Amino acid sequence: MNLKGRCAVVTGSTSGIGLGIAQKLQEAGCLVVLNGIEDPKVVESITCMENTIYVQADLSTQEGCHHLIDTAIQHFGNIDILVNNAGIQYVSPIQDFPFEKWNLILNLNLTAAFHTMARTLPHMRQKGWGRLINIASVHGLVASAQKSAYVAAKHGLVGLTKVVALETAKEPITCNAICPGWVLTPLVEKQIQDRSTANQTSFEEEKTKLLQEKQPSLAFVTPSDLGNYVLFLCSDAAAQITGVALPVDGAWTAQ
Ligand code: NAD
Repeated sequence: MNLKGRCAVVTGSTSGIGLGIAQKLQEAGCLVVLNGIEDPKVVESITCMENTIYVQADLSTQEGCHHLIDTAIQHFGNIDILVNNAGIQYVSPIQDFPFEKWNLILNLNLTAAFHTMARTLPHMRQKGWGRLINIASVHGLVASAQKSAYVAAKHGLVGLTKVVALETAKEPITCNAICPGWVLTPLVEKQIQDRSTANQTSFEEEKTKLLQEKQPSLAFVTPSDLGNYVLFLCSDAAAQITGVALPVDGAWTAQ
């Protein structure tokens, strides 16, 4: 895959899935804009990758989203690929779900993609090519208990993806969502740790149980798998794939 000279922005790319995607895009020749909330010094070992810049921006705010997109344009002149990946999780029954957490998850996991796509699209249109890729989740397709904000945001992100695909359908721009099942990243490690504390079991035991409950393949999806999927969506072969929500989930949503 040769994406030499294309500029790719990957939100939430200092860790986990975003980092895996950013690495694949960089290896394929992209100029990559990395993003996270961490201080640049803390993520120096990651952001020293060749042909990348790091933009610290809190994407739960409109200003943060605009700052990221505007900086990318200023630095590289255009954005060809935008991967909306930044996201967080919070687990609680609805009656105890803190309203601040609900707002934060909706702002980061859904509204940020609205702001970044709206800000980026005019530039893609001007250049006449673009790939918008939203990292949703199996929770954009099905639900799990205790994840009200996350499931609502991810279902919203799948809907938003379809709207943008319709609005760009006649142009050489595609907009798709990827819906991963369990990926072993800090976001999921925290859930495993919380469960092992609550159930007084080992981390390894809870890891296996997590897969057994939901993911029939009994194997985690990897950030590198998802990076390869993004590369495919950026290829000419995927020019007519738009407006879809693609599960990568070891048969989770086949059940
Ligand atoms: P992670 O915790 O490893 O990484 C999260 C990233 O988001 C980090 O780079 C962090 O800096 C960034 N971030 C957090 N708050 C931010 C903010 N306010 N502004 C900007 N950046 C912020 O998480 P992950 O597991 O790699 O998840 C990445 C995405 O994939 C999320 O949208 C998540 O919902 C989705 N996802 C994850 C899984 C999974 O099993 N891990 C499954 C399906 C979907």
